[in-house]
Amino acid sequence: MPVLNADQILQRSEILRQKVSPCVLCPRQCRALRLQGEKGFCGMTDAAVLSDCLAHFGEEPPISGSGGSGTVFLSGCNAACLFCQNYQISRLRMGRTVSSTELAEEFLKLQDQGCVNINWVTPTPHLPFLVEALALAVACGLRLPVVYNTNGYDSVEILRLLSGVVDVYLPDMKYGENRWAESFSQMPGYVEISFEAVREMLRQVGPLELDSAGTARRGVLIRHLVLPEDTASSRLVFQRIAQLGRIPVSIMAQYKPCFEARKHPVLNRGLYPFEYREALKAFEQAGLSAGYIQDLKSLDVQDSYFPDFSKDAGDIFGQT
Ligand code: SF4
Repeated sequence: MPVLNADQILQRSEILRQKVSPCVLCPRQCRALRLQGEKGFCGMTDAAVLSDCLAHFGEEPPISGSGGSGTVFLSGCNAACLFCQNYQISRLRMGRTVSSTELAEEFLKLQDQGCVNINWVTPTPHLPFLVEALALAVACGLRLPVVYNTNGYDSVEILRLLSGVVDVYLPDMKYGENRWAESFSQMPGYVEISFEAVREMLRQVGPLELDSAGTARRGVLIRHLVLPEDTASSRLVFQRIAQLGRIPVSIMAQYKPCFEARKHPVLNRGLYPFEYREALKAFEQAGLSAGYIQDLKSLDVQDSYFPDFSKDAGDIFGQT
C-alpha cells in the first residue's frame, strides 16, 4: 500500500492537476489546455477515461499473484506504437469518462474481489484523476500496493510526485535506438528519457521485492518486448539496464502484428524463435541474471486483448 496517507496523496493529486493545463504530464509536453477541453497527443482532456477493470491472471507471476492483478485499463496513450496490441483503447480510445469517485469505487471493488494490487495501465495522461481517486480509496480502506504500468515515456519531474504513492513500477524499456522509437512509436528521445525515468523509479523503490507468497510488494520490474529484425535493439537495452544494477527484466516473446503493423514491411510478422533466443543470449551477455521469460509457445498465441504470459513462463534465472 502507498507510504503516504490519504491527505498526503490528495495533496499530490492537487499538484498534478496543476500540470494538466497546459499539459506537461509527460515528456511530450504538448501544453494542451486540457481543462478547457483541448486534446493533447494522447487525446485526453479533463477527466480519466476508463476502458475496463478486471482481475488479470496473465501478468508476470509476482504481479498476478494468487488473486490476480487488479488491472485498470485506461484509454489513450502518450505514444503511438504501430503494433499496439491494446490499440482499441490506446489509439481508438474506447472507454467511458469516469469521475474520481467512480474510479475509487472500482479500486475498492478489485480489492474486494481478492486482487493483490491495483495495476494502472498507461496511467501517465490520467495521473491527477488516478491519484485523487487513490486518496479517496485509501481513506475508505484500500490497502493494496499500487502498480504503475507504463511505456517508460515519463518525465522525472512528474515521477517525483509519485514517490510514496506508487509501490511497484512496471516500465517498458522498448527501444535501444531512437530512430526506431520515433518511427514505430512517435517517441522522440525515448532511449534517454526511459533510462532517466527508470533511474528515478529505482531511486524511489529499488529493484523488485516479493513477499513470502512471491507477490510483488515494492520495487521495479522492467519489461522489454523483442521485435522482428531486432528493431528493439535488445542488446543495447540490456546493456543500459546493466548500468542501473541488477534489475529484474521481463523479456517478452509475444510480439505479433496488430493494428498498423499489419501493413508494415518489418513489423508485419511474428517473431522467429531464433530472434527471441538471440535476445536471451544478449541478456546474459550483458551480465543480467534476474528476470522472467515467456515460453516460445507465446509466439503462436492468436490475437488477444491482453498480454498472455503462459502459465509456464518461468523464472529461469531464479527468483529475484
Ligand atoms: S499527457 Fe497527453 S496532453 Fe499531456 S503532455 Fe503527454 S501527450 Fe500531451
